[in-house]
Amino acid sequence: MVKSNYSIIKEIKEYAIDNKIPIMNQEGIDFLTTFIIKYQIKNILEVGTAIGYSSIMMTLCGPNIKVTTIERDEQRYLEAIKNIKKLNLEDRITLIFNDALKTKIEGKYDLIFIDAAKAQNIKFFELFERNLKDGGFIITDNMYFHGLVNKSEKEIKSRNVRGIVRKIKDYITFLKNNDNYNTTIYDIGDGIAVSEKKTRGGV
Ligand code: SAH
Ligand code: MG
Repeated sequence: MVKSNYSIIKEIKEYAIDNKIPIMNQEGIDFLTTFIIKYQIKNILEVGTAIGYSSIMMTLCGPNIKVTTIERDEQRYLEAIKNIKKLNLEDRITLIFNDALKTKIEGKYDLIFIDAAKAQNIKFFELFERNLKDGGFIITDNMYFHGLVNKSEKEIKSRNVRGIVRKIKDYITFLKNNDNYNTTIYDIGDGIAVSEKKTRGGV
């Protein structure tokens, strides 16, 4: 029996739940895919593949969309390869198994999607913005970090989590003060930042 894309994607989501893999939630993925269609995005660079769910969903937004995606965890990378094969998207999704911060990417993209280690967002942004076209977008997931960014430090028990929350707040400040981009943070999913690169010579 040939499985439909729908049932393959459903299995990927179930695998993510069973194995506690933090893939984007439904509201977040709906926003991201609608955005890609609305702005006719064609070339996407993703930081943080996990098991390929968001790469697959973005690629399925149109027949000419291509995604390059980076993952440092070997088990997840191998699972992503399997999932991408199941959907026959090997020609349109390029997987890179490496630490993104040690990865040099060639070429320019319409969209860079940052969804990896939350404390490293400024580093990812600064490393990959050279790969963004003028007028392109950088989208960052988990700006609320499971709702914790809006809590007071006293409410957060783990020192490690407090550290990550502080870094996300630093990233918000970094985005707001960055004059090369217009950033909006949407109260959707786990908080999604959209940073639009201003075109050169623009107002
Ligand atoms: N975008 C995926 C979810 C990614 S979860 C989806 O929604 O389907 C975040 C992933 O980023 C994890 O699998 C983690 O291993 C990876 N990651 C974190 N820091 C990284 C880094 N420096 N380089 C590459 N991958 C990283
Ligand atoms: Mg995420």
